[in-house]
Order: sequence, then C-alpha cells, then structure tokens
Amino acid sequence: MSGIVISAASMRGIARAIFAAAGCAPEEAERIAHYLVRANLAGHDSHGVVRIARYLEWMEKGWLKPGQTPTVVTESAAMVLLEGHHGFGQTVGPRAVAVGIEKARKTGAAIVALRHSGHLGRIGDFAEIAADAGLVSIHFVNVAGSPLVAPFGGRERRMGTNPLTIGVPLPGEPPLILDFATSAVAEGKAMVAHSGGKPLPDASLIGEDGLPTSEPSVFYGPKRPGHSPDAKRGRGALRAMGEHKGSGLSLMIELLAGALIGSGCAGPPPRPFNNGMLSIYLTPAAFAGADGFVAETRSYLAYVKSSQLARGSGEILAPGEPERRTSAAREAHGIPLPAETWDLILAAGERVGLERTDLAAMARETA
Ligand code: NAD
Repeated sequence: MSGIVISAASMRGIARAIFAAAGCAPEEAERIAHYLVRANLAGHDSHGVVRIARYLEWMEKGWLKPGQTPTVVTESAAMVLLEGHHGFGQTVGPRAVAVGIEKARKTGAAIVALRHSGHLGRIGDFAEIAADAGLVSIHFVNVAGSPLVAPFGGRERRMGTNPLTIGVPLPGEPPLILDFATSAVAEGKAMVAHSGGKPLPDASLIGEDGLPTSEPSVFYGPKRPGHSPDAKRGRGALRAMGEHKGSGLSLMIELLAGALIGSGCAGPPPRPFNNGMLSIYLTPAAFAGADGFVAETRSYLAYVKSSQLARGSGEILAPGEPERRTSAAREAHGIPLPAETWDLILAAGERVGLERTDLAAMARETA
C-alpha cells in the first residue's frame, strides 16, 4: 500500500484543525478528532479519519450540526429517550452514555434511546466507556436514510449496516468488547478498499446482476480521483453477515433503533442520514453480584481459550483483543493511511481554508 504513516498525536492535531476551521468549537473539534483517531488506532480505519471529508459534506448539507446537546423527550426511572438534533455523534453519543451510566448506577439497569444522532462512528468506544464505569452494555444502532445492505435473498439496498455492540467489564483487566456491523463488512471497509486500502473478503458485496463479488466499484462506481467514495454512484449492495441470521438481526435492529425510538429506519428514501441507538446498561452487582459475575466470566473465558486450536489457527482471541493489539502497535509505530485517504484529508483541509503544506508539515512534526 502506498501512503503515509502518521502518529496518533499528529493525526489528532490535523483532524482538530480541520473541524475547528469548519466551524466546530475547539472542544468539539477535539472530541471528533479523538474518536476518529481512536477508531484508526483500534484498526477500524473504516470509522477513522477517512470520514473527515464526508463529515464536512454532511455539515454543508445540514445533516450534521455542530454545538448540539441531546434533550430529553420522555423519561422514567428505567429509561430515557434523547433527541440528538443531528449533532455530531462524537458529542451526543458520549453524552447519552453518561446518562445511561448515571441511571444504571441508581437503578441497576437502564435503557437509553438516542434518536437523530449524527454518525456515531465506532460504537465500541461507548461500550468501553460503560465498561470503564463497571457496567455491562448492549447497543443496537441503525442508520436511517442509508440503505446499503441487501436483505437475504435480495440484491437491492434495503437495510443499514446496523452495528451490534456488547461490552463486559472485567475489573483489573481490559473489558470484552464485541462490536461489529451486521453487514458482511462495514461500509467504511468498502470505502477503504476503494481508496486503495485492504481488499474486501470474497462475496461481501452483491452486484446489480445478483451475483456475489468483492469488487468495491460495484458498490461505489468507478474511482474518481480527489473525491471521497460515494455509494450513490454504484448500484450494487453490501451483503448481510451470516446469511438469513444476520439479515434477520439487521432487520430487527432497524425496528429497535429506528422504528421503536422514532429515529426512522433505513428507508424508503428520501430521508436524512442519522444514527439511532438503543442501549441497555446493566450493573453486575444487581444480578449475580459483582464478584460472582467476574469469577464466572474469568473461569468461562479460560475454558473457551482452553479449546484445541483449529488447523491454521494460532490462538483463540476474546472480543476486543484484536483492537487492543492493533491499538498498542499503532500508538507505538503510527497509523498507516493509503495515499488516497491522505489526499482526501488534505483536500478536506483546503476546503475549509487550510494550506496543504501546513497540514503536511503537521503530519511530519511528530511522525
Ligand atoms: P469486524 O468485522 O472487524 O469485527 C469486529 C469484532 O470482532 C470486534 O469485537 C473484534 O474484537 C472481534 N474480532 C475480530 N477478529 C477476531 C478474532 N480473530 N477472534 C475473536 N474476535 C475477533 O467489525 P466491522 O463489522 O468491520 O465493524 C467495524 C466498526 O464499524 C465497528 O466498530 C462498528 O461499531 C462500526 N460501525 C458503525 C456504524 C455506524 O453507523 N456508526 C455502522 C456500522 C459499523
């Protein structure tokens, strides 16, 4: 892969400068940069700085609004429904998590629905925040206005990439974080592949001819140098993970995080892009007791890892382990960016009045 390797600190500085120049308050620009770079560190480049250009486009269209605070629509002891006002997901998302933590600490369990949020990025971050506070959390997220995934048996886009995320804390140890899109690959992974990064797994897309493929131009149309990949230019679809099971799970997430909370489902179009998130927060002490839960979790994990290995497998990993390893490596050695992604970031900076040469100098500063 041709491109650059950039330190997390430099990349944060560049993203912060771009969002500040685009009109975000300094704290919000810092937050957006923090979460985008965290996604790159975790190895989910699909939800990292490759999104900068697209966020700027969405700000221009009014789909993403700086300076928003979620407001309460309905609330009881057990639940709260928050309106996100199309604010940056990096602002309204962590706020919704803070509300969930506060409520679950009082009641043992809490349900928090966040509707009309801007792109929430890597949902695993929210499960990590809850786990740091000692809570189990479950997050169902849909993507209104963005049907990209074909239902099982179909070839046209009908569902969002709808992530499911579950976090389990383990005192004194890193948490277990299961966090994935219910499409065969997250859309951003197709974006990364189209921009010259890691190729897609076989049959993760379906063409308008109804045949499975891994060619990202089926989804984005032909490459356009200097433009971020635009799914509207292709006719194919992502495939759901796990055949009928993943397709059914994705449909249910549309209903939970879209229809139930009033955020809206993926389609039919036209409707503006937004993420809906239905989250459940659980205090272990209110169930099997904190000690009992931790002891059983540790014992069960050891049992799982004691399995003989499959042929060709080096080890058995727990959910969240791959991200932690990648994060440690990228903190130490920097974040690799394909040349095309880097160029899109420079072009995004120019669009908000920053000089390419200044941004390139920032990239070299601590790289
Ligand atoms: P993925 O396919 O890489 O799966 C990641 C999950 O699988 C993690 O929990 C990871 O720890 C686990 N995992 C990976 N390899 C493993 C192994 N060898 N052994 C055990 N566990 C392993 O993830 P994805 O589907 O590409 O999703 C990427 C990101 O996209 C997620 O962070 C998700 O939240 C995000 N996303 C966000 C939106 C949105 O609208 N905001 C939409 C879709 C996806």
